Amino acid sequence: MLECAIIGGGPAGLSAGLYATRGGLKNVVLFEKGMPGGQITGSSEIENYPGFFDHTKSGMDFMDGWLKQCFHFGLKHQMDEVVSIQKEGEIFLINIANKEPIKAKSVIVCTGSTPKRANIKGEDEFFGRGVSSCATCDGFFYKDKEAAVLGGGDTALEEAYYLSNICSKVYLIHRREGFRAAPSTVQRIKKKENIELILDTMIEEIKGDASGVNALLLKDTKGATKELHVPGLFVFIGHDVNNAVLQKKDGNFICQTNALGQIKTDLRMHTSLEGLFVAGDMREDSPKQVVCAASDGAIAALEVISYLHERS
Ligand code: FAD
Ligand code: NAP
Repeated sequence: MLECAIIGGGPAGLSAGLYATRGGLKNVVLFEKGMPGGQITGSSEIENYPGFFDHTKSGMDFMDGWLKQCFHFGLKHQMDEVVSIQKEGEIFLINIANKEPIKAKSVIVCTGSTPKRANIKGEDEFFGRGVSSCATCDGFFYKDKEAAVLGGGDTALEEAYYLSNICSKVYLIHRREGFRAAPSTVQRIKKKENIELILDTMIEEIKGDASGVNALLLKDTKGATKELHVPGLFVFIGHDVNNAVLQKKDGNFICQTNALGQIKTDLRMHTSLEGLFVAGDMREDSPKQVVCAASDGAIAALEVISYLHERS
């Protein structure tokens, strides 16, 4: 029986693992369906994590040290996708496809979020052939070429800036005039000479042929249309909450959520179900920052230690 099962190996899950094992828990497993690191490993840069300020380092470089540190104290990694979690009496069952359920006394869920698709005609057809949601991964394919970015939040603007250092020109397409991104980021974008803003505009269709994307059909809010000839489109329009592991067969959740499917917790990361803790991007009111996800994970682990201590 595990003392604690941690689901998801992003900043929240890794921090939870560090604090749980370093805090004396002996049998703690991090269930992560891929390589641990989380969403930030898809980012070209991180400049707002205190103590880490190096524009030459990517999100992948940034997380490298976390992995070494978090696994140093005895945290085990099981590379599996958790399908669901249920509670029977005082015990949690961690369900993984084609395997026996794994028993745990407590669970911290940190499954984060996933980039949204824009549901534009041609998006699925050309995904991976000109349409991408990762500038670090795919930006180099557009070296000295033009590319477009869709979105008006921090991710879209930061990644447009990153791409502007690789591409000859970047078109930033946003559906309205105001941005969600931090004002300092907006200023930085506006000063970059090879970024052109295309505002109040939506993409109607992504066009291409056997070799991939070659044009975007744009439509502005007044109804005017035009074609933009680019070989690549990066879509950064927000995220869906990865809450499926907490969903029951009838569609309801095993703990309280809000209307957006985000998980309700108190400030100690307790959910409405005793022994179940949630940390990071997936919880209600999360600022969706690495530093906050890490803090959530640490708090959740400390709370698990108290929870288990009270029951021993
Ligand atoms: P995530 O990082 O989403 O990690 C969740 C993990 O759970 C993933 O590894 C996933 O594979 C795993 N998982 C999901 N479902 C399952 C399952 N069923 N079973 C097993 N494993 C599962 N924040 C900043 O502070 N500064 C920045 O500069 C910054 N830049 C960003 C740039 C980009 C492009 C993006 C996308 C985000 C950026 N963020 C930034 C936000 C930051 O990455 C997130 O706030 C943070 O990663 C959230 O951490 P998390 O641990 O909650 O979740
Ligand atoms: P976000 O803040 O939700 O922004 C999504 C953007 O996409 C919005 O501008 C939205 O337009 C637009 N959009 C949504 N659906 C669309 C559609 N179907 N078609 C066209 N445009 C669409 O998402 P994010 O930028 O990924 O950021 C997520 C969170 O991570 C945020 O809290 C952000 O602050 C954080 N983050 C922080 C940093 C940092 O601190 N450096 C970096 C990256 C991310 P509207 O504005 O019109 O709604």
